[in-house]
Amino acid sequence: MAGILGFYTSKGLVKIVNIRKVARKISPDTAARLKVLFPGMPLDSVTIIYNAWLPAHIFNKAIEGMTFHNTIYVTRYHIQHNYAGFILLIHELVHIKQIRESGEIAFACNYGMQLLSYGGYSSKMPLENEAYAFVAHIPFDPLYYRIRHLQHQVSSADPDWEMTAMAHFLDQGIYLGLQSSNDFNIKSYIDKIRDFPDTIHPVDYPAALLHCIKHASNERKKD
Ligand SMILES: [Zn+2]
Repeated sequence: MAGILGFYTSKGLVKIVNIRKVARKISPDTAARLKVLFPGMPLDSVTIIYNAWLPAHIFNKAIEGMTFHNTIYVTRYHIQHNYAGFILLIHELVHIKQIRESGEIAFACNYGMQLLSYGGYSSKMPLENEAYAFVAHIPFDPLYYRIRHLQHQVSSADPDWEMTAMAHFLDQGIYLGLQSSNDFNIKSYIDKIRDFPDTIHPVDYPAALLHCIKHASNERKKD
């Protein structure tokens, strides 16, 4: 019970202290990019509160983001056009997906119980582990991708070159089937998963990418 109380106390607190902070919607560019990773999610209903204050003491460590219902609170300013920020946004969207799937009350109960049983915030809490695993298993290496596909368009001097590479991958690269890391080629991946011909159309690269992320995440859970 303390867990769920903690969740709702945090939620109330976070809402009140951040009431004057800038709230923004996910931009159409970002939404188009994220559609590959979160098909069917109504991204236009998501609100992002920038430069938010978050109750870090509840989680025993500095946290960068927190999600309640459809609202993502982040301590950063840039999350749609900066690589680390974008990765954080993807992490928080996994929580929105979890909340949409289980309902907010069940999510709050589970999250609260996991906080208690892990003695505070931990990336090992199953709900957190799922979000971290999703991000970690996106088969994309910005350095590899820039050198291989964008050498003449993007300079490493550009402070946001990693985001530019990621954006290029999600906007075009995935549809073209471009190799996205040293060891990931979507075409050979599809060849390898030929035993699921009904679930993945031979040229549906975005679906195959999602399959790869989920499959790799599930494998990690089993370890
Ligand atoms: Zn999280």
